[in-house]
Amino acid sequence: MRYISTNRKTAPTTFYKAVLAGLAPDGGLFVPEHIPLPDVSAIRRFANMSLPEIAFVVAKPFMQPDFTDEEIKQIVDESLTMPVPLVQVDEKIWALELFHGPTLAFKDVGARFLARVLGRLAGREKKKIIILTATSGDTGGAVAHAFHRVPGVEVVILYPRGRISAMQERQIATLGANIWPVRINGTFDDCQRLVKDTFSGFEPGNVIVTSANSINLARWLPQSFYYFYAWSRLSGKAPVVFSVPSGNFGNLSAGVLAQKMGLPVQAWVAATNINDVVPEYLRTAMFSPRPSVPTISNAMDVGNPSNFSRLCYLYGESYEQLSQHLSGYAFTDNLTREAIAEVYRKYNYVLDPHTAIAYLGICTYRQKHPESEGVFLATAHPAKFPDVVQEATGKPVPLPELLAALSGKPVKSRDFEPSLSGLSEFIRELI
Ligand SMILES: *Cc1c(COP(=O)(O)O)cnc(C)c1O
Repeated sequence: MRYISTNRKTAPTTFYKAVLAGLAPDGGLFVPEHIPLPDVSAIRRFANMSLPEIAFVVAKPFMQPDFTDEEIKQIVDESLTMPVPLVQVDEKIWALELFHGPTLAFKDVGARFLARVLGRLAGREKKKIIILTATSGDTGGAVAHAFHRVPGVEVVILYPRGRISAMQERQIATLGANIWPVRINGTFDDCQRLVKDTFSGFEPGNVIVTSANSINLARWLPQSFYYFYAWSRLSGKAPVVFSVPSGNFGNLSAGVLAQKMGLPVQAWVAATNINDVVPEYLRTAMFSPRPSVPTISNAMDVGNPSNFSRLCYLYGESYEQLSQHLSGYAFTDNLTREAIAEVYRKYNYVLDPHTAIAYLGICTYRQKHPESEGVFLATAHPAKFPDVVQEATGKPVPLPELLAALSGKPVKSRDFEPSLSGLSEFIRELI
């Protein structure tokens, strides 16, 4: 399989090179040149296969010839260790729980897969890989846990001092080994700028410096696996509606990739908070990126969704195609809170604020299509947002063991002012 850029100004390249590059040289995102079609009988057999077994069939054509079957099998087995239960909430509504990974959010899936791929590339290149990432909270934890003790890879995570939650800081800064948390006396924007400046200052040599950004091909691809899994666990026949709580649209566009590979999907629901650039586009055919507005579903506070170009590519750059397959709905914080309260009251099921938006999306769609079977993606564990959830349900959220175990651990971060001087030397010492 070869990969091209959504900007079409980069020569086709391999999986291997696209993963190491992250972003294409022309500033676009890497997408497969063709969509592979696994035969329909293979998809029918998914009902009797585990998530890693399904992932192997789906991933194979994307990763050949850079990886052997044996390597692909190891990568899916090592990265997809968490269960992804499909929980029935109402007669025709299911939650696909993607939050059973080490940091209790769906980003664990992509981050773990990317870590296993990059670990193997470091071994092959016989070079050290340094990952530089800025985080405003959740991504940092997923990346830190995914790369912890992966040989040949050092991970530097920059985060703004005092601007992420204590729990998020512990997820980033208590692991040690090859994870190097850096606390910047500044804002998230300072952290991002420092990462960018550090990149441009590095001479290619005996080290590869890259990012674990969500646009990386090897973080995007694995997000297509669990859609096949969910469908195979339902009737396995009828097309399904998927409601995806969206910010950068990596998750939803990976689902569309699955659909293009043959997954029977009736419709997509692009569910957002009031940062509604994509629902607005579906309504008006105008794409108007703008600064994001803070909400209680903050991992979706995105004003310029980076994976929108992948979505357009998959639908042949056609507004008609896109608007025919996608329904877009946006919801306020108040509606989100009401949904958490209602679902708890009606079904005794607890939603986090992001998942609540996906639930609202599927309900809105089903008002017009009451016969359809709907799956909403549950992207974070409610215990990650204890205040909002407790306020809505009236009950404290029990702390899962994974989070409880963190509370006693000391935070070990290095502190830097928001300038390159000390930081560059620190990074050079890791080489
Ligand atoms: C990142 C995130 C999202 C949004 O996913 P995208 O792929 O950026 O659309 C939704 N929910 C949670 C909990 C997240 O962390």
